[in-house]
Amino acid sequence: MPIYPCKCECGHYEEVFRTVDKYRDLPSHCDKQMKRYFTPTNVMADMKEYQSPLDGSVVRSRKHHRDHMKRHDVIEVGNERIKPGLKKDYNPGNIRGDIQGAINDLKRVS
Ligand SMILES: [Zn+2]
Repeated sequence: MPIYPCKCECGHYEEVFRTVDKYRDLPSHCDKQMKRYFTPTNVMADMKEYQSPLDGSVVRSRKHHRDHMKRHDVIEVGNERIKPGLKKDYNPGNIRGDIQGAINDLKRVS
């Protein structure tokens, strides 16, 4: 069920759940029916063109960028896939004993 933000003339704001066929059925405030309130959406502009360090061609759009990356089999830094299995290899062993040992070492030093 979609959420419809609505606002009263007094500034009171509410979000109401309605089925699509009842989207006009808005609550009242100050003895008047509230009005739908449209919030600005986040629109992402297309990227600026750049010269590819891979082949020197000019990449002109986000789609072109994606295709270019795919064609050269590269990814952006930060988009690396984290290999599964790290948890499987992680063996905390005797973690309680390790902590106690570290505490004892500190006690010996101080
Ligand atoms: Zn009101």
